[in-house]
Amino acid sequence: MKIALIAHDKKKPEMVQFATAYESILKEHQLFGTGTTGTKIMEATSLQIERFKSGPLGGDQQIGALVAKNEMDLVLFFRDPLAAQPHEPDITALIRLCDVYGIPLATNMATGEILVKGLARGDFQWRKIVNPKVENNE
Ligand code: PGA
Repeated sequence: MKIALIAHDKKKPEMVQFATAYESILKEHQLFGTGTTGTKIMEATSLQIERFKSGPLGGDQQIGALVAKNEMDLVLFFRDPLAAQPHEPDITALIRLCDVYGIPLATNMATGEILVKGLARGDFQWRKIVNPKVENNE
């Protein structure tokens, strides 16, 4: 499966903890991330992440483009709800596209944990039906 990892600055420590805790599950999948989030996860774990631009510089939109092409299976986006973000329109657009295309999206760690546990037990197999390009464990 293709998984996107994004965290706003205040949520980056949580994202690193999350990626560390679920490294054994995440490493079985193809990972993508915004620039800084991806770098911090790669520094703390052995995970390989294809990094896009930083969120405020277009990274969220790059991930949104993959969602629109049906090339993203899960989005883990730990948002900071207490700080205004300069790229708020991009954030709204990414969340909207996940809803347009029915892509599972977690906007906080609690939901992220449930989705990753579901991923590990095969709850995402339906993605192979809607996107035949998704291979076993990919
Ligand atoms: P970043 O982008 O990982 O490059 O910080 C995330 C965001 O703020 O959307």
